[in-house]
Amino acid sequence: MAKRHHSKPNWLAEHFTDEYVKKAHLTGTRSRAGFKLEQIQCRDRLLKPGMTVIDLGAAPGAWSAYVRDKIGHQGKVIAVDILPMDQLAGVECIQGDFRDAATYAALKVALLGEAADLVLSDMAPNMSGIPAIDQPGIYVLAECALDAACELLRPGGHFLVKVFQGAGFEDFLMLMRSHFKQVATRKPKASRARSKEVYLLGSR
Ligand code: SAM
Repeated sequence: MAKRHHSKPNWLAEHFTDEYVKKAHLTGTRSRAGFKLEQIQCRDRLLKPGMTVIDLGAAPGAWSAYVRDKIGHQGKVIAVDILPMDQLAGVECIQGDFRDAATYAALKVALLGEAADLVLSDMAPNMSGIPAIDQPGIYVLAECALDAACELLRPGGHFLVKVFQGAGFEDFLMLMRSHFKQVATRKPKASRARSKEVYLLGSR
């Protein structure tokens, strides 16, 4: 009889040995993604006490928790995700597909007419591994986030958005440049080197 193999697939082995997965576990951070925002914050100082911040693609909530800690009780965090998210004190959660008008309308209601200081988008589609599906998927989400940032950000505000290098990147970069005074690319250390993921940071 053929032997059964018990070796872990590579991605699983990588997951359990990943420095940031271990760190998230030890610190009680909701996901390793939290360290990406922390590293961007160390460099760009985007978050300040009292800010109003929109967090798109927020589940399971590491970015929202980090933002809330940085902006304090005077600030406001509105988190949006298509998936349900466990409650976080001081974070207003909206569950819905951000491509839907109803979700966007709920976000505007939650803002109570205020402009946002910072719009974050870590939204990503479920990855199929097929670039012809995954690349358009991320850019649909990034463009929805950009539309929201253009309408909801105050002058001088910032927009941080996840995208994938490859097809669509240059076009989206040009679109960002047409809406923001400055656009910078960020690849935090916690973003896996082999991943095509990068963040674009637009400053109004
Ligand atoms: N920043 C999060 C954190 O710190 O925990 C991790 C975000 S995870 C990489 C990407 C998220 O985008 C997922 O939770 C997914 O449900 C969300 N997402 C994907 N498509 C979406 C959509 N159409 N509308 C809202 N959220 C979406």
